[in-house]
Amino acid sequence: MITTVLAPEKDPMGAAIADYFEKGKAGKLRVLSSSFDEDEIPVSTLFRSFKQMPPLEQEALKLASGKILDVGGGSGCHSLALQEMGKEACSIDISPLAVETMKQRGVKDARLVNLFDETFAESYDTILMLMNGSGIIGKINNLPTFFKRMKQLLQPGGKILLDSSDLKYLFEDEDGSFLIDIAGDYYGEVDFWMEYKTVKGDAFDWLYIDFQTLSLYAAEYGFNAKLIKEGKHYNYLAELTLA
Ligand code: SAH
Repeated sequence: MITTVLAPEKDPMGAAIADYFEKGKAGKLRVLSSSFDEDEIPVSTLFRSFKQMPPLEQEALKLASGKILDVGGGSGCHSLALQEMGKEACSIDISPLAVETMKQRGVKDARLVNLFDETFAESYDTILMLMNGSGIIGKINNLPTFFKRMKQLLQPGGKILLDSSDLKYLFEDEDGSFLIDIAGDYYGEVDFWMEYKTVKGDAFDWLYIDFQTLSLYAAEYGFNAKLIKEGKHYNYLAELTLA
């Protein structure tokens, strides 16, 4: 598991976020993958307000309580919305340009920290992982490390609120059956890299996980998983609490 932060010259998403913040517009933030066609993240969506957020995210912000850790805060949209609700949030990100932008936008506690860096040792009542927050776990094999880390960061009685998607729809046949190679790697494990203008990031692993698989692993590593809400496209919000 990588525990460091990004070098500024390998931080395309941060460059896009900083550009959008400074100029009110940005170029194309390209998302590439060995498993998908090239795609694009509209940079404005990274600056969404509470009203513009999908219902799953709004629900997560409503449920967040106590001392909140916003993991992979990006432009700070969730932390800013939490602050407006009078809640106390700390946002961490590995992108130096994103963290700089969050500070300028008024996120009170924004830090350049990797979630898996054990020298970051505070504790929280709520850990938020949004916009396919399970992605940061990277691979199914990293789930034990992830749950161990969550135990270090959670206060007694604390919770994790995480959203993800079940990628099985990508394997759906015309007749509605699913063609998944169960002997192969888990179908939600993908790789991505991003490009913005001349800035090209390194490839990273990104995990999409279906709720049932998440629950099984959660139980194995001492957590209860509860399905809070389902979205429109095989996506969902889960709450994980210590069993
Ligand atoms: N939550 C934001 C941004 C999502 S993009 C939003 O919903 O708009 C995912 C973010 O996670 C990126 O900003 C990326 O830099 C950050 N990130 C990726 N791996 C991380 C890690 N290990 N620790 C902390 N942040 C991480």
